[in-house]
Amino acid sequence: MSKPVSRHLPQTQFPVVDDCLQVGGMPLTRLAARVGMTPFYAYDRRLLSERVQQLRAALPKEVRLHYSVKANPMPALVQHMAGLVDGCDVASGGELKVALDTPIRPADISFAGPAKTSAELEQAIAGGVLLTLESEREMEAVAAIGGRLGVRPQVLLRVNPDFEMKASGMKMGGGARQFGIDSERAPAVLRRIGALGLDFQGLQIFSGSQSLNASAIVEAESRTFELAFHLARHAPSAIRLLNIGGGFGIPYFPGEQPLDLMPISENLHQWMPLVNTTLPEAKVVIELGRYLVGEAGVYVTRVVDRKVSRGQVFLITDGGMNHQLAASGNLGQVIRKNYPVLVGNRVAIGEHEVVSVVGPLCTPLDVLAGKMEMPRADTGDFIVVLQSGAYGLTASPTGFLSHPLPGEVLV
Ligand SMILES: *Cc1c(COP(=O)(O)O)cnc(C)c1O
Repeated sequence: MSKPVSRHLPQTQFPVVDDCLQVGGMPLTRLAARVGMTPFYAYDRRLLSERVQQLRAALPKEVRLHYSVKANPMPALVQHMAGLVDGCDVASGGELKVALDTPIRPADISFAGPAKTSAELEQAIAGGVLLTLESEREMEAVAAIGGRLGVRPQVLLRVNPDFEMKASGMKMGGGARQFGIDSERAPAVLRRIGALGLDFQGLQIFSGSQSLNASAIVEAESRTFELAFHLARHAPSAIRLLNIGGGFGIPYFPGEQPLDLMPISENLHQWMPLVNTTLPEAKVVIELGRYLVGEAGVYVTRVVDRKVSRGQVFLITDGGMNHQLAASGNLGQVIRKNYPVLVGNRVAIGEHEVVSVVGPLCTPLDVLAGKMEMPRADTGDFIVVLQSGAYGLTASPTGFLSHPLPGEVLV
């Protein structure tokens, strides 16, 4: 018996008209002419806005949404997100600059990262943003810089919890980590924050990323609230902000199903009354990157050559892992699986064949789709990698083989 073939979910976010994908309300072929080059990334404003609206409809009204800029720091996109979310989280001086250029208030920007330099800390303190303290050394440095600048730094303590989000693509808490301060050490650090006269704002407890398992997220959120209640007793002042992390994933691979928000929503609705009485001043924040922007973006590349080698068809494109590393399977995957890939100007109609789509680099690692069935494509056709709105361009080794940078548009 052969096992059932698992497939990608059919894409529904981008309309298809006359067998051509529409991005930003425009046929892909015309968008390519507008951009003036391939390869390029395109992010669809309508999809970005709809995603935030749908999420807000599901979550308790008082839960705030922050955008994690590292998922996609394109300035125009961050500007667009700034009009939709309640704040954002940055992880470098470069991201901080992009965030400060938006209308988001500095007090609604938090700056995390385990190796912030003195220059970055100074920028953040002078800018009036919330510093997410990641170590005791950093806490002392922040107090010293604040003293020097004559500014009282606003700080969050990032806590490395004693649990992790189960079934998450990337575990970022629990066990030994380079992020944050171990929860058992946190009470002493909270007292020290008070002694140093830092303006304590609250806690950030982040336990995982890219989870499609609602019950794992529910469990992590519940344990996060319990930990926050425990730590609040040691805090130098009331918790005004409680960042419970995020971890909401999106489906990338065959067989994956979208995250079911219902259980997460019910769990948060159940917790909020107790949160409001236990931590009456706390704003609860969920921080999300890929869930907000990942499905709104495509990476578009053009077929330069079509080659048959010993019976296998290769479509060779003008961009690949140098621009879209994750789709090539080289960003943290153990077994390479295909992202959803399609022929943008021949989405469904015509004779189908099994092909491998490979990029222009001289390495066998440069694969965008391995042995996928798609309509027969030829030189000049557009290959589209879906689910490319997050961790795309800035998570890729663009210098590798010295090809030009791709275009990037918000449409
Ligand atoms: C990367 C990161 C995120 C965003 O993760 P996504 O999977 O893109 O939602 C959120 N919080 C912290 C602390 C992060 O490091």
